[in-house]
Order: sequence, then structure tokens, then C-alpha cells
Amino acid sequence: MSNMLFDALMDQHAGSVRDCLIPGDGPRISYDEIYRLSGRLANLLLAEGVSPGDRVAVQVEKSPQALALYLAAIRAGAVFLPLNTAYTPAEIAYFVEDAQPALVVCDPAREARRTEFRPQGKLLTLGADGNGSLMDAAAAYRDDHAPVARSGSDLAAILYTSGTTGRSKGAMLSHDNLLSNARTLVDAWRFSADDVLLHALPIFHTHGLFVASNVLMLAGGAMIWLPKFDAAQVIGLLPQASSMMGVPTFYTRLLDRDDFTRDLVSGMRLFTSGSAPLLAETHREFEARTGHRILERYGMTETNMNTSNPYEGERRAGTVGFPLPGVELRIMGEEGAELPQGEIGMIEVRGSNVFQGYWRMPEKTAEELGADGWFKTGDLGLIDAQGYVSIVGRGKDLIISGGFNIYPKEVELLIDEMPGVLESAVIGVPHPDFGEGVVAVVARGRDVEPDPQAIIGGLADRLAKFKQPKKVIVVDELPRNAMGKVQKAELRARHEGLFAG
Ligand code: ATP
Ligand code: MG
Repeated sequence: MSNMLFDALMDQHAGSVRDCLIPGDGPRISYDEIYRLSGRLANLLLAEGVSPGDRVAVQVEKSPQALALYLAAIRAGAVFLPLNTAYTPAEIAYFVEDAQPALVVCDPAREARRTEFRPQGKLLTLGADGNGSLMDAAAAYRDDHAPVARSGSDLAAILYTSGTTGRSKGAMLSHDNLLSNARTLVDAWRFSADDVLLHALPIFHTHGLFVASNVLMLAGGAMIWLPKFDAAQVIGLLPQASSMMGVPTFYTRLLDRDDFTRDLVSGMRLFTSGSAPLLAETHREFEARTGHRILERYGMTETNMNTSNPYEGERRAGTVGFPLPGVELRIMGEEGAELPQGEIGMIEVRGSNVFQGYWRMPEKTAEELGADGWFKTGDLGLIDAQGYVSIVGRGKDLIISGGFNIYPKEVELLIDEMPGVLESAVIGVPHPDFGEGVVAVVARGRDVEPDPQAIIGGLADRLAKFKQPKKVIVVDELPRNAMGKVQKAELRARHEGLFAG
């Protein structure tokens, strides 16, 4: 018997001296070193009483050891459960209570918090701060460990969603979910052992862990392994890389710098973007500056990657491309029927990428994941005449005012172009006459002060009356969650009473 995911990601690299990780500072780390460290850590997990199927919850900073710990959990047959490093002890308490891990691993800096969240299972420390650290303890274990047998349907991970639309939900992902999607992406994006990926994403989220890391390990390529995105550091390292996976803010931060120039990226073959919409303007500017067209794609915690713009062929700005091989995607109307091309509806997907359900939420699972395998993503979108998919927004953010549907993104795109506006969030707030009234919350830019009257006036002949905001509120910044996503639910709660009385 074999361990499906571990074999594919790592077993093939046993003994390989090729680079796996290239830290921003410090020596390169070979595949064999990561392979052996994962063996030590797997032996340690077993000695700590972790049995196949147990959850191992991890809240650690990104480091080479953190990647080995992920692989060790998979190797030991456990279910890996990474937690956002920005989460507070109170938030961690919720996840630990919900997931009931056999073991919680945290950084030395976080150990003091142990009393604050009282795990049911054990708590260990990962780090090099002397006694009691997991790495020190691991040194006492042998580095050979026979991977625990796991088949495609066994769980490999529980990954909590970002909590943009409500409480985070634990998405259960099987070995097959993760491996089939990684294989598809290696193919679709042409990854090979010659690749060097600039990896500045966090590894507690699907993007950095299952998209970026799994894909590179499967292909046998190297990763420039940075704990966080620092534009100056990235600019220094890009000449060594062949590819980068990023979120839209990576690209805007690079473009903000004059020393981000075309010659730095002449050896690059691929830039991808996802997790949030990439503005058409960023697309344009990036291409003008570098000659590269960013490849935008669409994924989520529950499904890994759903769609991608083509590697060869037109990468169309404002779209997330085509469903990946093995992924079916359809647009559904309110009546539960599939909508024709060009119409906006709820996006549903089906395929081997789709998760096994929400951890300990059977009702929520039954609501969102049909017996026929179709998953309701909660996103609104459409498919154009050429088959490109566009995301219009979240279903929960759709505004219905006076019986008309308003897609916030359409209004936001216009407001974002106006003087003094850094960015905007358009929301629906209870309104006595219209059901919901349109409100624009605008974050001020650096130079001129945004003028609410001018914004409303500026939309007058560009949008139908019912789409125009009744009120514009200027703020210093929009509220974001730990993943950096704008929290519209929070904004709606804040301005709930705006039209009351
Ligand atoms: P929660 O489900 O807890 O509310 P979340 O949906 O933000 O949080 P994630 O799974 O991290 O949690 O994010 C997936 C979502 O991110 C998608 O459903 C989609 O709304 C958005 N997204 C991902 N890629 C893109 C993209 N390229 N363009 C627009 N939106 C995107
Ligand atoms: Mg979601």
C-alpha cells in the first residue's frame, strides 16, 4: 500500500540533491533534506500518539521546517490543519474546539498562549529556542519512516475558509482532491523540474500550500521560500526565478516601485494571480512595464483551482479563463435551472477537485454540496461567448434595490477611477422604501480628498438611477480579514441603520 499524496510529492525525491527550497537568507535545502526531515517529524508525530486520521493543527510562521511538518503529517497518515498566523488565541480556541486535533503545534513565540486556548490534545513547539522545541525533539528520531498507507478517498487536510462571508468553515480535502488538482496545474501551467518559483504566499491558505507548494513539489522544481511578500526583496530575487504565483496586491506593490523594471523579469515565464479580482488597470500596467501578461485564475478553499486563463492563447483581463480539465462549471439561475451563455448567475462546479464536505457541518454540507457532486460556490459569474468565465462578485453581496439586481463590482469599478479614491466597497443597507439602498464606502487615496457629491454626480450619466449610491461614506481604510479580503458583512453591520427612521 502506498500513501497517495506523499508518494507523489516527496517519495519520488528521496535521495535527490536538487534544490527544493531557496530561503531568502541562509543555505539552499535539497529535496532529500526535506524528505528526511519529514521522516523525523513523522516519527515524532507517531511517538506523540498521532494516529492515522487524527488532526494535527499547526500555527507556525512560514519556514522550511513548516513545509516539512506539513509533509510529515501527510506521511504519518494524519489530517493536516494549518491555521492563519494572524489568528488571535480567541480565534484559535474556536478552531481547536471545532477540529479536536490530537496535537497542536505552534511557534515558540506562541507557546505562552497555550493556556489561552487549552487544547484537548497535546501542544508542541516548533523552533530552535532550546529545550522543548519540536525541531530539537525531532533530532532524536530516525529519518527513515515508512509512509502510512492512505488511499485517494482518505482525508489529507482540513483547511478553514477565509471567513469573508461568515464564520470560517473547515473544508475536508482528500488525497485525491489535492493530488488530482496539482497534476492538472502542473500540466496546465507547464511546470517542470527546471522551474524556480518565487514563493512569497503564506502556507496556511490553499493558494500557497496546495496550489504553489504542491505543484512545485510534484514537478520537482525549486521554490524561493520567503516568509512574506516584501517588494524590495522580491525585486532582488526575481532574476533567479522562472515563475511567480501571487495575489493582486503583489502586483500593485511591484508596480508602485520605480526599480521594478523589465530587465529583472526577462527570465520569467509565468506570473499568475488569484484569491481576489485583478483589476484591468493592474493587468495593463504590468504588461506595459514588463511585457508579461498575468495569468488570472479562480479557486477556493473547498475546490482548489476551478478555472485558469490559458497558458498559450489569449489571457483575457477581467476573466478567470476556462474550467480546468476535469472541472465542470455551470451558471445557475434562481429557479435552479442552468442559465444560457452571457447571463449572470450562481457558479457551481463539479470534479475530482471538489472537497468532501464541511467538517462537522452536515447541514451546511448538504445545502452546498449536492448528492450529484455539484458544489455551490456562492460566487456570481457568467460565461462569455468564447467560454471565458468572469466572476461578478459574491452571491451574498448582491444588492436588490426596488426589485432590481445590482452587482457591486460594476459600481465599484467606476468609483475606483475617481479622484481621491483608493478603493471602494458598494453594499446594500436596509432601506424602508427599496428593501436595500445602495451605499458606497470609499477609502481615501493619498492626494486629494474624495468628494461624495462629486462621486454621486460622476455616476449620474454612467449608471442607471437604481444602481447609483444613495450615500457615499469616506473612510481611511476598508475592513479586511486575516486573508486581506474586504469584509462586506462587517460594513453592512456598521451601516445597518443608515436609512432607518
Ligand atoms: P468564506 O468562504 O469563509 O466566506 P472565502 O470564500 O473568502 O471565505 P477562500 O476560499 O479563501 O475563502 O476564497 C475563495 C473565494 O475567493 C472565491 O469563492 C472567490 O469569491 C474569491 N476569488 C478567488 N479567486 C478569485 C479571482 N481570480 N477573482 C475574483 N474572486 C476570486
Ligand atoms: Mg468561500
